[in-house]
Amino acid sequence: MVTTLKQHANGIRPTGLVDRVLDGLDSNMTRLFVPWVARHPRYLGAGLRLARSYKKTEKLRREALKAGLRVPPFLILSITSQCNLSCVGCYAAAVGTLESRRPTDCSQTRPALGYSQWRDIIADASELGVFSFIIAGGEPFLFRGLVQLCEEFEDRFFVILTNGTALTVSDYARLKKTKNIAVIVSVEGSEELTDSRRGKGVHKQAMETLAKLKSIGVPSGISVTITRKNYEYWMQPENLDRFVELGVLVGVFIEYIPMMHENLTGTGHESMNDKAELMLTAVERDEFRSKVLEYRRENSFYVIHSPGDEDYFGGCVSAGRGFAHVTPSGDLTACPVSNLATHNLSTASFRAGLASPLFTAIRENEHLLTNEDTPCALFGHPDEVQEIAKSVGAYTTDSLEVT
Ligand code: SF4
Repeated sequence: MVTTLKQHANGIRPTGLVDRVLDGLDSNMTRLFVPWVARHPRYLGAGLRLARSYKKTEKLRREALKAGLRVPPFLILSITSQCNLSCVGCYAAAVGTLESRRPTDCSQTRPALGYSQWRDIIADASELGVFSFIIAGGEPFLFRGLVQLCEEFEDRFFVILTNGTALTVSDYARLKKTKNIAVIVSVEGSEELTDSRRGKGVHKQAMETLAKLKSIGVPSGISVTITRKNYEYWMQPENLDRFVELGVLVGVFIEYIPMMHENLTGTGHESMNDKAELMLTAVERDEFRSKVLEYRRENSFYVIHSPGDEDYFGGCVSAGRGFAHVTPSGDLTACPVSNLATHNLSTASFRAGLASPLFTAIRENEHLLTNEDTPCALFGHPDEVQEIAKSVGAYTTDSLEVT
């Protein structure tokens, strides 16, 4: 099997099981992950099981679409409203996800979901055809039983987005045995860039976490918010190499989006009042995009770039087109940066939420899915999104007020 995988990794097309299972998967991804799996034997069986499971979910999604239901391959779960950091410009804070940074008058919020409720939501979404769950927050490792919850669904792939400062010895001990989890650590660039946004000493802890993940053989990556302050740092290949040496396989580059509704009371080192100033200009966006495509051709690192990659899918992939999002209290929103909902998954099914007038309207209004000159389609059409929300009786997840 190892030989076959190595052959496959080196582009030699063997026939048989591995070939059939890997056929049709993203070639950039297989070229990077297959050698990694070959070096980490505990993932051999799991890798094939997940590839087969991916194909089954693809079939489920196709059948659902034929029946008029759009099921996304990914579901983002903001599993906790707790966080141990207070980063400047935190999205979760801006949409009212973070308990510690909700405006004091934000009286009406629902209770956070517990372990068994999240298990039910993952089971329900998996049955419909969701293949991968992206676990966000707040800080996910503050959620008790996080790794155990992922282990309960061995034929689904979990990506945990962490600030890299809250993993415990028992988390590492458990992660050491897992075969269906990747951990993505947030950094901004150099020590100075990360600490100036996330707090003193955070960069060092994040790098130590990456080194520990490498030592226990857990696939890892980094997540970066690209602003005018750090995009040039990430245009230097030698800066990426530092992370590749730490075993990082994936880089998620998300261009900064100023929030439509801010309740940022962060204690960060410098305010981000002039938020739009931080957004890349159109020229800088093109420069950065061509660099990303160059990194992709070199393939030492799997790059995911938002919003650039949405172009492959014909624009914004929110509202079930590519993913959807669940808040810590179970509200289903089109995207992590949107605070509009009509369904709560502690009482409603995922199917009902996906088929909701809110999601349907966002998906069917194609022009709403184009970015204009901003990194976020929904952000680019605030009034129309508000109009739709009003017309379907949506509520805001941070105050439960009907729009
Ligand atoms: S770690 Fe994440 S959730 Fe916590 S404050 Fe920072 S950006 Fe926000």
